[in-house]
Amino acid sequence: MTVEECLAILREVKDVSFATVDQDGRPQVRIIDVMLIEDNKLYFCTARGKEFYNQLEGKKYVAITGLNSKFQMIRLNGIAEHQPEQKKLIDRIFEENPAMNEVYPNQSRYILEPFSIENGQIEFFDLGKTPVYRECFSIGSMNTETKGYEINDACIGCGKCAKSCPQQCIIKGTPFSIKQNHCLHCGLCFENCPVGAIKRRGV
Ligand code: SF4
Ligand code: SF4
Repeated sequence: MTVEECLAILREVKDVSFATVDQDGRPQVRIIDVMLIEDNKLYFCTARGKEFYNQLEGKKYVAITGLNSKFQMIRLNGIAEHQPEQKKLIDRIFEENPAMNEVYPNQSRYILEPFSIENGQIEFFDLGKTPVYRECFSIGSMNTETKGYEINDACIGCGKCAKSCPQQCIIKGTPFSIKQNHCLHCGLCFENCPVGAIKRRGV
């Protein structure tokens, strides 16, 4: 997979979940259209009167997720950048998404404000394959987050983790190791290791 392919899946799914945090720190989620993808940037818009707009203007962080018919899921966490050339970009969005004219006919479209996500982390998770497949990417200046589990040198080679792994993605060795691209991040190996040799990554 590539960043381009991941963003293309979000555009193909189009109606995806956008999550934000409100002023009281509570999670809020709604379905929003992915309007454009250009130069590894994702564009969307919302009306100035909506709570979503206020939340984007306040905290700027947004988490997006979409699933296609092949059970390939994309997650994108990033910073929503309010775009300055409002009318030009809204016109462009309406050209690429003509159905928007039915919702916001004529000049009413200019109540909408365009945003882009240019800096963020993408996670591709393919649940349609056995074993599952995952891969992480970054866009812009944001680094990828390390998640999941890893096995360290305290491993005594008992094999309990490999036996319990639902994706059979633990390889025998000294120490045993996890095929990170196929791991569910379920934590079963972590719970079963008798010597605490399995640790969470990135903490
Ligand atoms: S976290 Fe779950 S899927 Fe990943 S290696 Fe451990 S048991 Fe297997
Ligand atoms: S359960 Fe722990 S000690 Fe046993 S093989 Fe796995 S990592 Fe090593």
